[in-house]
Amino acid sequence: MDIQKILDYQKQDFEIIKLERLLEESEDKKIFHEMRNVVKDAQTKSNNLEKEAGELIKKYNEIKKAYDAEIRACGEIVNKDPKALKQDELENTISKTNQTLESISLLEKKFMSFAEQINSVLAEFDSTRKSYNEAKKKYASHKQAYETLAAKTLPQIEKLKQEIKKLEPSIDPMFLQKYKQRRQDKVFPIFVPVIDKACGGCRMELPSASLDKLKRNGFLECEHCRRIIYNQ
Ligand SMILES: [Zn+2]
Repeated sequence: MDIQKILDYQKQDFEIIKLERLLEESEDKKIFHEMRNVVKDAQTKSNNLEKEAGELIKKYNEIKKAYDAEIRACGEIVNKDPKALKQDELENTISKTNQTLESISLLEKKFMSFAEQINSVLAEFDSTRKSYNEAKKKYASHKQAYETLAAKTLPQIEKLKQEIKKLEPSIDPMFLQKYKQRRQDKVFPIFVPVIDKACGGCRMELPSASLDKLKRNGFLECEHCRRIIYNQ
């Protein structure tokens, strides 16, 4: 088994992997993905706040209506001439007035609490909009930075891929197939030497039967990490 050819191939492929990782692990990419979520969350949040504000306004208007009715009732009582009232009518009027005043004071308290709630919704709305705008700006700038990097890196990857492809015909097809499979599963390096009777990838010690097999066949698949182990 000619292991050297696949090792050369792996060495060149490593240059591709480094570039691919540069893109995958790009900080700009991470940030713009994060910002995309922040923007989405902010949109959902402001929709919810809008709904909440709508509900509050509806309730506020209901209370306002009740309040206006009480004020009107109060006005009617005030307009009555106490002298023209009989004793029981007067008592009735006084008790009604007290009730109305109590209702009004209760409604005023409700108004205050509603005003507070509305203010807090507005404040939250404001801060949500602010973070939405910031996230959008950050998203745009980091996306642009990532795209600039990708525009530079992708052609380099493509060029290296074409070069490495030229090596494929001279490689044992069985090795190449195993290599490509593991590459897809993000295992790298794929071909590793045996080091101190252990897998050079995962460092798992090899039993003597496996070492014999390695000696016999010239390569061995690690049962632990699936890398292909070769004799140095
Ligand atoms: Zn291993």
